[in-house]
Amino acid sequence: MTDPTQPASPHDADGAPASEEPEIEEPAPRIVAFDIGEVLIDETRVWAVWAELLGISPLSFAAVLGAAIAQGSDHREVFPHVAPNVDPQELEEEHERRYGGFQDQDLYADVRTCLEELTDLGFSVVLAGNQPSRRTAQLLALDLPHDRVATSEELGVEKPDEAFFGALVELAEATDPAEILYVGDRVDNDVAPAAAFGMRTCWLRRGPWGQLQDLPDGLEPDLCLEGLGELSQLLSDWRDG
Ligand SMILES: [Mg+2]
Repeated sequence: MTDPTQPASPHDADGAPASEEPEIEEPAPRIVAFDIGEVLIDETRVWAVWAELLGISPLSFAAVLGAAIAQGSDHREVFPHVAPNVDPQELEEEHERRYGGFQDQDLYADVRTCLEELTDLGFSVVLAGNQPSRRTAQLLALDLPHDRVATSEELGVEKPDEAFFGALVELAEATDPAEILYVGDRVDNDVAPAAAFGMRTCWLRRGPWGQLQDLPDGLEPDLCLEGLGELSQLLSDWRDG
């Protein structure tokens, strides 16, 4: 039975207490590292601009993207389906021009408060995900509380490669991966490889991957949340517990 005084308990997708006891004996992480896409940034505009550029409806684009995700394919598999005669690389510059980079309107509404609370509580905050290097300046322009930021392009390696998580340990100046809680929306790119590397994990169930993916047997994130609203309190209780 789940102890209600242990708020760091993981919950399953329906919000019911997980069947296993929380790993509350584990020391609380002191560093919280956030994936970027669909954790900090709502990527709706990214995909809507692609749909517009390719001349198809946002609904059609999103449906095909969802099918690719559900099949376990790379999201780039969407392009041969929706625009078989187009090389998306040739449109990337125009896409970026129309997209205009990360903007305040793209931030999920719970992000800024969560990062402020974590910083106030003394947690180290790191922002690190699979992104081109130009996104770093765009993130900095959003003026989010943080201690370190890096993209996969800057680190020279992408998730789910374990070298990404090794680089993250160095970036965060951790001595042990378990000092880091990695918060990500994807099981395949975030939760599974971060856990395999020895990090604590928070699966954020939002965005297409967060909604469509399932946990494989034997993988139990330390936290499973639908938003960031509770995260600082859960971590604070875990640390104080
Ligand atoms: Mg993501």
